Amino acid sequence: MTLQTATLGYPRIGENREVKKALEAFWNSKSDVETLLQTIRAVELANWQTQLEAGIDRIGIGDTSLYDHVLDWSIRLGIIPERYQSFTELEQYFGMARGKDGIPALEMTKWFDTNYHYLVPEITQPLQPADFGDFLETVHRAQTVLGDRAVPIVLGPLTLLRLSRLEVNLEQAVSDLCDRYLVLLSELKNLGVVEVQLHEPALVLGDADNFKEIYQSTYDLLSRVGLPIHQVTYFDDLGSAYPWVMELPVAGISLDFTRGHNLALLKQHGFPSDKQLGVGIVDARNIWKIRPDSVLSILEEIQSTTTNLRIQPSASLQFVPYDATRETKLPEPLRNVLGFAEQKLEEIGILAHTLAGADPSDKLAIVQTQWQAFEQFSPVNPAVQERLRNLTVNDLERPLPYEQRKHLQPVLPPFPTTTIGSFPQTSEVRQLRVKLKRGEITQAEYEAAIDAEIAKCIQFQEEAGLDVLVHGEFERTDMVEFFGQQLSGFAFTEHGWVQSYGSRCVRPPIIYGDVARTQPMTIREFKVAQSLTKKIVKGMLTGPVTMINWSFTCIDIPRSEQAMQIAFTLRDEVADLEAAGAKMVQIDEPALREGLPLKPERWNEYLSWSVDAFRLAAGVAKPETQIHTHMCYSEFGDIIEHIERLDADVLSIENSRSNNETLFEITGAGYKHQVGNGVYDVHSPTIPSTEQMVQQLRTGLAHLPTEQIWVNPDCGLKTRRWEEVMPALKNMVEAAKILREDVNAPQT
Ligand code: GLN
Ligand code: ZN
Repeated sequence: MTLQTATLGYPRIGENREVKKALEAFWNSKSDVETLLQTIRAVELANWQTQLEAGIDRIGIGDTSLYDHVLDWSIRLGIIPERYQSFTELEQYFGMARGKDGIPALEMTKWFDTNYHYLVPEITQPLQPADFGDFLETVHRAQTVLGDRAVPIVLGPLTLLRLSRLEVNLEQAVSDLCDRYLVLLSELKNLGVVEVQLHEPALVLGDADNFKEIYQSTYDLLSRVGLPIHQVTYFDDLGSAYPWVMELPVAGISLDFTRGHNLALLKQHGFPSDKQLGVGIVDARNIWKIRPDSVLSILEEIQSTTTNLRIQPSASLQFVPYDATRETKLPEPLRNVLGFAEQKLEEIGILAHTLAGADPSDKLAIVQTQWQAFEQFSPVNPAVQERLRNLTVNDLERPLPYEQRKHLQPVLPPFPTTTIGSFPQTSEVRQLRVKLKRGEITQAEYEAAIDAEIAKCIQFQEEAGLDVLVHGEFERTDMVEFFGQQLSGFAFTEHGWVQSYGSRCVRPPIIYGDVARTQPMTIREFKVAQSLTKKIVKGMLTGPVTMINWSFTCIDIPRSEQAMQIAFTLRDEVADLEAAGAKMVQIDEPALREGLPLKPERWNEYLSWSVDAFRLAAGVAKPETQIHTHMCYSEFGDIIEHIERLDADVLSIENSRSNNETLFEITGAGYKHQVGNGVYDVHSPTIPSTEQMVQQLRTGLAHLPTEQIWVNPDCGLKTRRWEEVMPALKNMVEAAKILREDVNAPQT
């Protein structure tokens, strides 16, 4: 039996977000390249040392990045779009990442089903020369610190291809890339590394079988270099690709045993005796310690199939923060069961020792006790459980179908104008929260200042002539955090940052138990706003699915149930908003689509409970109350029937491509409810002209009856400045007025 420990990547932003700060200082010309590179190297070195001290045998290295590891590999492999070929070094690198001199950046998109975003490689012909210099240098440096433990992490050729925008034929691209990977592997072999990790998460996607021959021929070639390849997969199981992946000529294969059905596949098909199995057993996607019993029983089952093992996290640890012991403000029983990267390293060691039969000095027993203490600290909430038990399909149903209730809802002019909710979060507004936290102002002073912002916002919207107003969300830092902070079962960390993309980091809330509302969450601000105007103010809530998808969730309660629990809290909030006089309530679900499982065969299950959760939140509304929802994307074609099942009265979507394509897609599919097809892109500082918006609305009109159309920007305005928002919204209202004249004009 062989038993090793390994890692597949580590958090790379620095324990105190040093890389973020260094990047921003560099971009703002407040520091130089040297300082930036020194910072990155220091973070990298600290990562290596931590993993070395934890006794990891095969430490994945080379994953630290100035912005994004996929971009790093694009550049090393010479995949540089023509528009950036004349730039060099960092100008090229950051240009491709963020755009430069009006030259667009690469497209950014989500890395599989995580909240990390990568830059999409654009493969055109011919490729620019490859240059692995920086990578080889890093490997060499790692070897001096880690010796043979240093294992280079390389993004696999076929995953890179699968994620790219291909402008050449696939065979051509494969052959070009293969040549380059051959060079890279030879160079690594010359450096004397004991193996290389080729990360091929694309193998878990539903279409992997289509690429079977390409994988086979590519890996046949690469294996001839003679450097042992450990092929790494994660985020899901191999599905039907399992049998042929096992036959690839590699020295080892890593599988994720925390998601999907790899264990069943392993038992069904076995595991080749000439390969090492990388057992991804410590969940790299959650922030909890292992449950010793269940993990040990999985490991035993694996051991009965194959014994050449490597214990490791399920994926790179970049998806979790560094160290849970720093969260000293969290209650101890909770803190003790949190496992961030450092705790996960320790667990890997403990598990390997336990499997090897060594006495783990009762470390697993300690974890067991910590979980017991946690259960005492966070017992099930009987009221929440009772409510879930009594849930019936009727609760998910609005009292009348759309066709009937729409006549009872507020009457507005054609092309009603509104916004998505937030107005500029100025530094003064953010300062208010800092002062409140520091005790420099009282709660009453804080509220008075927020109310003044609301008043200003209402007055502006009245002047601009908008039809449906919002309060502006000044009291919210973040649309999930704001609600989570008022719900039991949510916890917030001080240092729990994870990278979202580049220098952008997020600190997701932790859902640790049954979720319940302790008090109304949005009523005070709603009332303030509504009291200042005769126009309708929309109540503004964050939907249950978005709350789940942007948090670290509980491991003991299924996500579907957590979503239902949150939906109940929102249901109460909807009822309270109605009681406070709200005629419209918007329940935002910007993250609904991004929660889709990687394998399409699991979409229905996910969409079924997520749409139910939304319906549970909205179902309480009277037929007279108009329910809006907003989604930050516009790809609906493949999930349109689920969007319909949300049964929202008004759906507002992004349309930054502003070509109405999505609009045609959803209306072509027969969508009958009202649609706010964003008329301008809020992510751009450009002020949209009236003509441009009129134009867009007219194209929309050719395909949609007037009564289905709303006019709004494509997302919230919180990142914009007032100077941009004011003229933009005035132009937007003007555009709606012009359209109204069209409608009223006699037909010729
Ligand atoms: N109501 C939110 C806002 O306007 C919606 C944000 C979002 O879609 N991400 O900010
Ligand atoms: Zn949005």
